[in-house]
Amino acid sequence: MAEIEARELTAWFGSHKVLDRVSLTMRAGGITALIGPSGCGKSTFLRILNRMHELVPSAQLAGEVLLDGQDIYDPSRRLIDARRSIGMVFQKPNPFPAMSIRENVLAGLRLTGTKASRSTRDDLVESCLTKGGLWNEVKDRLDAPGGGLSGGQQQRLCIARSLAIKPRVLLMDEPCSALDPTSTRVIEETMLELAREVTIVIVTHNMQQAARVSTQCAFFLAAQGTPGVIVEHGDTAAMFQSPQDQRTLDYVNGRF
Ligand code: ADP
Ligand code: MG
Repeated sequence: MAEIEARELTAWFGSHKVLDRVSLTMRAGGITALIGPSGCGKSTFLRILNRMHELVPSAQLAGEVLLDGQDIYDPSRRLIDARRSIGMVFQKPNPFPAMSIRENVLAGLRLTGTKASRSTRDDLVESCLTKGGLWNEVKDRLDAPGGGLSGGQQQRLCIARSLAIKPRVLLMDEPCSALDPTSTRVIEETMLELAREVTIVIVTHNMQQAARVSTQCAFFLAAQGTPGVIVEHGDTAAMFQSPQDQRTLDYVNGRF
């Protein structure tokens, strides 16, 4: 697990500024929840943490992201080194549908050029699926296609896949928004277990979920025409019980 720190991040898509000097330290071994209305830059912020926003040609960035004190945007560091340390899970479960469950888990090894022997790979598949909370359900059909699983199982497969590279940080962008309450509960339990060994940053619109799983919380807001900022951040319990800003109070109580 690692600490990840954003320093003074400002982001633009073309001339449209979407984040304005956002700073946040996401502590090692905790779960940080990013909350706030749609369009305030949460997904952009999360993508900047693993340089994924660079896939958008018009995106520009100022500021720093430090992974255990090392700037992942330092030109002398290779993109692959940051990506090997940081896993990502998206809102819509996106396993490779035609690939087997086993191959899905191992896919990241190939992408990052990580070598592993056959027995190591088998151990890795079992341990990642166990950590993803899916092993018992799929251990007898590891060669079945990932696309054949239910939505909640597919999302847990995606979590297992992200773990195969042994990331120190796991970024999750609304991982339960597309799932039913039962699958959501299973994934929350999985996250709480995982937080023992990986730093988790989760974007969620579900305030109960933020309260249940996170240790710290940051409230993002973009007012009309102005870019996203963090209005308030701190320990989750304190922020939910006694927010310092009226806008946070309104948001966590569902008043906008
Ligand atoms: P959130 O995740 O909080 O809903 P986003 O980070 O997705 O917010 O979006 C923040 C702002 O950036 C929005 O105004 C959105 O329209 C804009 N935006 C996001 N992605 C892109 C993109 N690829 N190109 C242009 N604008 C984008
Ligand atoms: Mg988003």
